[in-house]
Amino acid sequence: MTKKIEYANNSGKENGIDVRNDSRVRLMIFTKDKVAVQFNGPILKFSFVNPANLEPIMKLGPDPLRSDFNIDDLDNQIYQRIKHNGTTLIADLLLDQTCVAGIGNKYKSEILFLSKINPFVTIKDISSNSVRTLLQQIPSVLYSGYMNSGATRLVHNFFGKVDNDNNNTRRWSDKHWVFRSGGRPCWKCGSQIVTDYKLSARVTFWCSKCQQWIKID
Ligand SMILES: [Zn+2]
Repeated sequence: MTKKIEYANNSGKENGIDVRNDSRVRLMIFTKDKVAVQFNGPILKFSFVNPANLEPIMKLGPDPLRSDFNIDDLDNQIYQRIKHNGTTLIADLLLDQTCVAGIGNKYKSEILFLSKINPFVTIKDISSNSVRTLLQQIPSVLYSGYMNSGATRLVHNFFGKVDNDNNNTRRWSDKHWVFRSGGRPCWKCGSQIVTDYKLSARVTFWCSKCQQWIKID
């Protein structure tokens, strides 16, 4: 699995630095004028058969960034989980790649913040309105991050378009709503963003005012 891909020129130099002897490098793919370098990839597998037909890829849930993504498939996956394993926390469900593919820990916190969903609510207790919001936010936030170098909080220029020049020079905490922003004021309400290490499987960043526990409808 790819943790990070950087691009170098065809001599293996990234921004003028030779990375060929860098111990973090796991893979380098050379093309005519570019080199893709993978740093710190935790798992690297090669196969003679189509990996899409092998585990774990064949068990992945719907990928919201695929061109053939169908939101009904994701709706069905979430519905099945609610029906069969309703005590799962929503924060943990979003990281289950067999339910939906592609949500890492950063996107988990960002999606739940933008959906105004408490991360620690069990999925059987999520309102149908919240599920609908989630179904909109999951592809939207993933696509936004994909298109904007990982930024999930965007700045728009005077004409309403994403200001990508500004985006490149912004600080990390300006590019995200809550992720790794514990202790900072919430961009929407000003409350202090909370970092939680205990209540779900992985660290979660959230705003207790914007993401209140809503009674099921
Ligand atoms: Zn807030």
